[in-house]
Amino acid sequence: LQRNEGQKDSVDLSLLGGLLVPGFMKDSCLSRYQSYLYRKASQYRPSLHLISKLRAYEGLHKRCGPGTRPYINSERLLKPKQTGDLNSEGCKYVVWMSFSGLGNQIISIASAFLYAMLTDRVLLVEGGEQFADLFCEPYLDTTWLLPKDFTLTSQFSDFGQNSAHCHGNMLKEKLINGSSVLSLSHLYLHLAHDYNDHDKMFFCAEDQNLIKNVPWLIMRTNNFFAPSLFLIPSFEEELGMMFPEKGMVFHHLGRYLFHPSNHVWGLITRYYQAYLAKADERIGLQIRVFDEKSGVSPQVTKQIISCVQNEDLLPKLSKGEEQHKHPSEEDLKLKSVLVTSLTTGYFEILKTMYWENPTVTRDVIGIHQPSHEGHQQTEKLMHNRKAWAEMYLLSLTDKLVISAWSTFGYVAQGLGGLRAWILYKQENQTNPNPPCGRAMSPDPCFHAPPYYDCKAKRGTDTGKVVPHVIHCEDISWGLKLV
Ligand code: GDP
Repeated sequence: LQRNEGQKDSVDLSLLGGLLVPGFMKDSCLSRYQSYLYRKASQYRPSLHLISKLRAYEGLHKRCGPGTRPYINSERLLKPKQTGDLNSEGCKYVVWMSFSGLGNQIISIASAFLYAMLTDRVLLVEGGEQFADLFCEPYLDTTWLLPKDFTLTSQFSDFGQNSAHCHGNMLKEKLINGSSVLSLSHLYLHLAHDYNDHDKMFFCAEDQNLIKNVPWLIMRTNNFFAPSLFLIPSFEEELGMMFPEKGMVFHHLGRYLFHPSNHVWGLITRYYQAYLAKADERIGLQIRVFDEKSGVSPQVTKQIISCVQNEDLLPKLSKGEEQHKHPSEEDLKLKSVLVTSLTTGYFEILKTMYWENPTVTRDVIGIHQPSHEGHQQTEKLMHNRKAWAEMYLLSLTDKLVISAWSTFGYVAQGLGGLRAWILYKQENQTNPNPPCGRAMSPDPCFHAPPYYDCKAKRGTDTGKVVPHVIHCEDISWGLKLV
């Protein structure tokens, strides 16, 4: 398992080049200290500026986090009758509301965290019990979980695009301006896939300036909106220093924030040791079919096989005679393929194919799939543990194939720092040509970016403003960092 043998500095390795700090109780979060034994050291180092921002953020979170005096005072601002001296000591918050599937949650929390760092706010996540079951606490001596008794929690389900405190709605009704904003204790930010043009004004420097002193921002999002933060002039310089290599935002922040809990780490390590550790090469294949009813489609089967064989990820089948000469130990290569999918159809086809036929390279191909959950069941604990374990296992592979449009695959690609092969989406059941293509960077795609030039106050193609924010490989209107 010690894949990084020969490298002296195991402390540096386990702390991911300064991304993480020591001092945690090892047993409380094994993955924090053991992940480097399973994942090759990243070829991308976090910048010193990012590291110092993270350390500063940790200080802020500890000072302002749940249970502290500034937190208690800030929370009182939300109560109808405020009494006494409510000195929040400069603490401001952004609350991420629980929403969507696990992949969407992970990439949107990473975006909210980046936003919190840029705006000197503390990020709290409304995770419920599930969240603590899936992830370790990312910071020392404090919590990132929004306390259960948070004053506004009971109102969360009422927050929507038309609610009184919604930023977009207030803009539409012309209720928000430099002076009215001063009396606001909180604002609701609707940044989900279905947000409207008013909600999208969040991505304008002017609106950022307007809301910067509101103590509580409550955010509903399922998107990786980091690319559009890079287009806000007031954040540009800071982001440039934090991420000199642009398309690595999720790679660094994801590995910083998301450490599998011990339950999930058990699922990951047992599976890895049983099915992947001994392979000469590990291939990840994430198959996400959004039309659940269709079962196995011959077109999708064809697409998957042409992708993996054309790109030399898996060998072609040998049509000739069986070679009876026994290959020597050194010649024999084992490629283990980790398939993740809600159903077993494609897995069965691949497994049978590589069992029934020899390969032209004589490589031996093992096909494995940890679960087949049938459909998304976000409310179930073990279902989510498996989903998280599978995203993580995919991120440990040497070469990865993911499905277009899927945030599940984006998480695997980003954590692994991999440029995956993306299986393009089929239109009207016809095979895209080529069947797959290489991602430009490990970062996820922002599926629903704004198309607005805040300065000129008119629509614009935001994928053409700067060279490092361009349209995604899999969604032509999406934006990604490269
Ligand atoms: P997306 O819908 O592909 O963008 O990814 P999300 O993670 O946001 O939502 C899909 C959800 O469906 C996951 O969180 C899982 O609950 C479930 N799911 C989808 N694909 C898989 C899979 O391959 N394995 C498992 N275990 N669950 C999956």
